[in-house]
Amino acid sequence: MATVIRFSDISKETCYFEDFPEMTLDMGYNYQAILDPTSIEVTVTPATDGYGLTGSFPYRVVTACSRCLGEVIIQGLASFDLLYKPGNQSPRARELNISSADSCVVFYRDDLPLRNLLLQQIYLELPEKILCKEECLGLCPDCGANLNEGSCGCSGSIDPRWNGLQSLLPS
Ligand SMILES: [Zn+2]
Ligand SMILES: [Zn+2]
Repeated sequence: MATVIRFSDISKETCYFEDFPEMTLDMGYNYQAILDPTSIEVTVTPATDGYGLTGSFPYRVVTACSRCLGEVIIQGLASFDLLYKPGNQSPRARELNISSADSCVVFYRDDLPLRNLLLQQIYLELPEKILCKEECLGLCPDCGANLNEGSCGCSGSIDPRWNGLQSLLPS
């Protein structure tokens, strides 16, 4: 049974827990990531203008480098401290516009399954551009070789780190 926070039932501080099996995350562009099994814990506290939600879950995500497609593992502890306000107080336009000033305020309309909360939070943990390392050289556009493993010999595939030196060499 999925655990669901029912805001209308909460009159005092309430804790929720749920264990999740491995999940596949859609990263867009047909690109996926695997989130290892995890468990989330959330404390909901009634506040004057909504509900405070604090909690955390450990995560380990296995995905691919966006340049060389090599395996990338991202792990850590996601923790959150959010204020949920009743959704009927917020016009839709405001809801789409909460990023900067009120980043911790979330509007709700209904009950909140813990799974939704987890998915919402895991995407915030992942970098926008996933790289195996900052200076990843990616794949050769001509032959597809992984340039981190050395030059493939195609023209134009010279390690960019040598660009500066190359101009010093006699041609
Ligand atoms: Zn890479
Ligand atoms: Zn090549």
